[in-house]
Amino acid sequence: MIEPSAKASQLIDGLKAFIRDEVAPLAQREGILWGEPVPRPLLRDLWKRSCELGFYNAMLPESLGGAGLSVAELCAVKEAAALSGSPLAAHVLGELSGPPRIGHLFKVASAHQVDAFLRPVCAADKAVCFALTEAEAGSDASAIGTTARRDGEHYVLNGAKRYISGAPYADLAVLLAVTEPGRGAQGISAFFVDLHAEGVSIDSDYSVMSGGGAHGNIYLDNVRVPVDNRIGEEGAGFKLAMGRITLNRLLHCPTMLGMAGLALNLSLEHARTRKQFGQPIAMFQAINHQLADMATELYAARSMMYATAALNDAGGDIKLQAPMCKLFASETAFRIADKAVQVHGGAGLIKGHPVEWLFRATRMMRVLTGTSEIQRNTIAKGILMPG
Ligand SMILES: Cc1cc2nc3c(=O)[nH]c(=O)nc-3n(C[C@H](O)[C@H](O)[C@H](O)COP(=O)(O)OP(=O)(O)OC[C@H]3O[C@@H](n4cnc5c(N)ncnc54)[C@H](O)[C@@H]3O)c2cc1C
Repeated sequence: MIEPSAKASQLIDGLKAFIRDEVAPLAQREGILWGEPVPRPLLRDLWKRSCELGFYNAMLPESLGGAGLSVAELCAVKEAAALSGSPLAAHVLGELSGPPRIGHLFKVASAHQVDAFLRPVCAADKAVCFALTEAEAGSDASAIGTTARRDGEHYVLNGAKRYISGAPYADLAVLLAVTEPGRGAQGISAFFVDLHAEGVSIDSDYSVMSGGGAHGNIYLDNVRVPVDNRIGEEGAGFKLAMGRITLNRLLHCPTMLGMAGLALNLSLEHARTRKQFGQPIAMFQAINHQLADMATELYAARSMMYATAALNDAGGDIKLQAPMCKLFASETAFRIADKAVQVHGGAGLIKGHPVEWLFRATRMMRVLTGTSEIQRNTIAKGILMPG
């Protein structure tokens, strides 16, 4: 499936209208550019409005107030959001700090956790981040050193998380810490951690390649976390965090390919309108062949993504195809963004131009949420040792 279903199309039409009529004018009024920090109050208002209109929770199942979309439909909606080109697009669907980050936890969270943490995130009253990575534990995620020592009805947390998306404006973190040292992944537990609690500090005074303000490090200094905040059993945290890794690998693709589609659309428009040597630059084969390659590669990557989504929706196993999609979509999106810069010439090198930002943002996708090398490791293992 490359064309969205009727259900997804209807949602996409509403989403596009919201972005066109409210979000884009808001971004323009407030001078928000791609990759620039967004003030927390503005984000809160946007999340709330998106919540009112039903977009913020759209990624969730119907039983949780969502749109109950299939994976193929989720891909279509996410792709459309990125394709809109709005610097605030990801916030409309709550992708950075909202419901999509915690939807899967409803199954394992206690009644208290649903009321105290999950519902407030869905109501856009609280923002959440996911904190696993540490200085010594990146690709090797189970090597984390943050500890959670039991002390009566509390755990006492110590350690430091780094590069955490949404940390500067999140109210709580789903955070992984070691409860039983020496047991590797099986000694890791997951917690809801109140980021306003005593002993928590957040440092966000660095900028990543795509821009500033959205990522930070979390420091935990004797932070007392109630036992009630532990998610699932002790020692089950890593499995919980990795449980959806295959599906998540696929669900990262629509954002990258939406960005690639935007890069292509902007390039087509530029090539048609920019004149040099008395004619539109689209007339030069050197340019129009680049456009042809961009469109072809995008078609291949989207076909792969939607075929894999359809396989998943039909109950098939995608553990080999999902990392293939993440690998191919991220590498393809970057190649397309690189060509888009070339087609734009100098204009594509100027900060504030969407193509300049797309180049930086797609470059990051080859590292984030599992590097290309880690995807290849999984694919190689799957083809060498099937079953
Ligand atoms: C902007 C940004 C946002 C992020 N958001 C979050 C977040 O919200 N939550 C969170 O927990 N983390 C987050 N991360 C962390 C991110 O997931 C890690 O940076 C990523 O997994 C890579 O880990 P690393 O940076 O330690 O690199 P390393 O693991 O040190 O990798 C360095 C290089 O070695 C390669 N390598 C490592 N191991 C192998 C291997 N076994 N085989 C082959 N090659 C290998 C890698 O592919 C890479 O090329 C974020 C990072 C950034 C930069």
